[in-house]
Amino acid sequence: MKIIGKKDIKTDHGFAEKIRQRCGENVFLCYQCKKCASGCPSRQFMDKTPAELMRFLQLGMIYEAMQQNTIWYCLSCQTCSARCPQDIDIAHVIDTLKIIVQEEKIKTDTHNITLLNRIWMTILKYMGRMYDIALAGSFNLFTGKPFKDLPLAIKMIKKGKLKFIPSIKKPFEMMKMFSRAKRLKK
Ligand code: SF4
Ligand code: SF4
Repeated sequence: MKIIGKKDIKTDHGFAEKIRQRCGENVFLCYQCKKCASGCPSRQFMDKTPAELMRFLQLGMIYEAMQQNTIWYCLSCQTCSARCPQDIDIAHVIDTLKIIVQEEKIKTDTHNITLLNRIWMTILKYMGRMYDIALAGSFNLFTGKPFKDLPLAIKMIKKGKLKFIPSIKKPFEMMKMFSRAKRLKK
């Protein structure tokens, strides 16, 4: 059995430095207490906990960090950031990772989650608030199941739980959104 010593462990600090430059957070302050993970409301759906994500970043395991569904299941609720005894704004680190994944076009196994996130952000950008029918409708359309939630949507509209017509603040911006929607599909 080979005993692994310090010289066998190769770490790449470059990515952690990039994160620090982009969002000002130092991931090396994390000492794996796991308080972030224990308070995370999305934890049960994540491949890896926020604490494990921080460890990947410390070790320079970039693709392991970015290819997990962890960053996409993050709700940006800031619970982890508030609980961290080292004052690391973990939610901000995760938001930064989401941006880097998009900028560098890193292929992930979480295409549908990425797609949902992009539709979500596009609707927020152009409407200033969530329009549930557009979110669910666009997602189902781009994933090849356009009528998946139709029966539920009809029930919800009848009960007044879902607005069929949104309050559009920026109609011209809305038109731009639909013209850009084609690009969401890879
Ligand atoms: S910000 Fe994200 S990672 Fe942090 S507790 Fe909330 S959902 Fe979990
Ligand atoms: S709460 Fe902070 S120090 Fe503890 S594991 Fe999470 S990031 Fe690391």
